[in-house]
Amino acid sequence: MDALVLRGQIVYAPFPKKLTVRPDAYLVAEGGRVADVYDALPEAYAGVRVEDWGDCLIVPGFNDLHVHAPQFPNRGLGMDKELLPWLNAYTFPEEAKFRDEAYARRVYGRFVRELWRVGTTRAAVFATVHAPAARILAELMGEAGLGGFVGKVNMDRNGPDDLIETTGASLAETERFVEGFAEGRVRPILTPRFAPSCTEALMRGLGGMAARRDLPVQSHLSENEGEIAWVRELHPWARDYASVYDAFGLFGQTKTVMAHCVHVTDDEIALMLRRGVYVAHCPFSNLNLASGIAPVRRFLDEGLNVGLGSDVSGGHRLSMTDVMASAVECSKMRWKYVDGRAPLTTAEVLYLATKGGGSFFGRVGSFEPGYAMDCLVVDDARLSDETPRSPEERLERFIYLGDDREIRARYVDGALLSEPRGG
Ligand SMILES: [Zn+2]
Repeated sequence: MDALVLRGQIVYAPFPKKLTVRPDAYLVAEGGRVADVYDALPEAYAGVRVEDWGDCLIVPGFNDLHVHAPQFPNRGLGMDKELLPWLNAYTFPEEAKFRDEAYARRVYGRFVRELWRVGTTRAAVFATVHAPAARILAELMGEAGLGGFVGKVNMDRNGPDDLIETTGASLAETERFVEGFAEGRVRPILTPRFAPSCTEALMRGLGGMAARRDLPVQSHLSENEGEIAWVRELHPWARDYASVYDAFGLFGQTKTVMAHCVHVTDDEIALMLRRGVYVAHCPFSNLNLASGIAPVRRFLDEGLNVGLGSDVSGGHRLSMTDVMASAVECSKMRWKYVDGRAPLTTAEVLYLATKGGGSFFGRVGSFEPGYAMDCLVVDDARLSDETPRSPEERLERFIYLGDDREIRARYVDGALLSEPRGG
């Protein structure tokens, strides 16, 4: 039988409200999918070798719902700027370098190894406009055993000459990029950078492609007030920012994730709910670029799909535990200074980083039966003290104080991932 049995202190978040904790339990997978979690190993698995991780925590792998791989070299730079000046000063000049495939392979190799290191098992990733480089990124993620979506970025206006495509070439290249994918756990995603970078003709073309090929979509929405005013100027006919994407079939007509959503209106939230559009909440980025504090508690209360994104390099760290801690901190500032809605809890941020964002990739991010067997083994002995701590407390401390030194093993679809060679 193709079964995998891990024993340890099992913690996961099938719901936002409460952690499920199963001490000294057996997490069993068959064919890469979770069979169940058991207190005693059922007779049917009697012959299967148990990987006994003792007192280690076993948690679902982390899902990064929004990250820009080509901005990896810019981490921690330009953090004194807002969105639009930051794009021009740092991001666009770096992204132009990905015309060079050898450069792309080196940077993307390091990016993929870092994803592995910090325990991100699936990610929704922006590449650049360059399709060959985006293909290299998808290959490297696939070879590393990681899952997710990779998008060749589209932009045909309002950018530097060396990144702007013609509308026709942007669509044709994207079509070729999508067709070039082999079957696997890394899949293509349509990636209009954001409305200001894309003409209406380009967005219409991409919306058509999404519908024709049933492709998912990722982009940015209402990150910054200057950006929102610009969108209003560019599309005076539109009721709001979300309606621009919606008019062209890029807002939940197929599976869609929008990063940020810091300043969304009531109408936009209602439309996101109707269409099942995901929010990728990126707290580091929202702080660094002084964009604002997204109303995540409201998103959860309203029943929106929400996950977390590192948004490297608007965000300075790729580690989802750091992003989780920042999400709690941001929610406290919003509670205190903006809307009085309760801050996020440890259970809620674990949910957002696992099942909340994971559901964008399928049945991912939980240990319920049928879910992908994506998990991390966390040895937090370095963080311990003189007092015995519950698994909930240990998880919280791992989120706040832990890093890759605590991660002893990473599994995706039941396969143990070895350290990627790249970079
Ligand atoms: Zn972004």
